[in-house]
Amino acid sequence: MCWRDFNHQLNRSFPAIASVEYRSRADRWGGHGEELAAWKDGRTGYSVVDAGMRQLRQEWWMHNRARLVTASFLVKDLYLDWRLGAAHFLEWLLDGDIANNSANWQWVAGTGAHTRPYRVLNPMRQAALRSRRGLRPALRARAGRAHRH
Ligand SMILES: Cc1cc2nc3c(=O)[nH]c(=O)nc-3n(C[C@H](O)[C@H](O)[C@H](O)COP(=O)(O)OP(=O)(O)OC[C@H]3O[C@@H](n4cnc5c(N)ncnc54)[C@H](O)[C@@H]3O)c2cc1C
Repeated sequence: MCWRDFNHQLNRSFPAIASVEYRSRADRWGGHGEELAAWKDGRTGYSVVDAGMRQLRQEWWMHNRARLVTASFLVKDLYLDWRLGAAHFLEWLLDGDIANNSANWQWVAGTGAHTRPYRVLNPMRQAALRSRRGLRPALRARAGRAHRH
């Protein structure tokens, strides 16, 4: 509840939160394309990312941890613009909310008010930590970038 309150206060003092980076680090994010489509469809090859994205379309909801992992994958692994991910979440989430959605996306992207810009959630490690079945990725690994943690 504190985060919700914080995000709404942030949005009140910074109304452009959905479109303008609160603390820009001059990232040159990528845009629309096949990688974005694969992320939206749950076809990245990373099971924990794909499960979250498919749940979003089937249930219109995702657990907070899945939101963090899928958002981190979009901005830190695919290096695509967080605004594209935020717009997709807002379109599908039952609890979609401009202030909470945008502030959380900016936090993940490293442009937010209280952010740790170098934090990257490794989808392999997150899958191992969060699932008893552990790692069963299809590993087509279209993203194929090296993970830092
Ligand atoms: C990328 C991303 C996008 C998000 N988009 C939204 C959104 O559009 N709307 C939305 O309401 N929340 C959003 N959240 C926050 C969070 O995921 C949801 O509030 C949470 O999943 C709700 O689940 P719950 O009710 O089981 O809450 P619990 O995890 O049980 O938490 C209890 C309450 O605390 C608040 N809360 C918990 N975590 C957060 C958080 N990170 N930010 C703000 N409030 C929080 C919520 O009011 C929640 O109902 C987003 C998080 C991320 C990482």
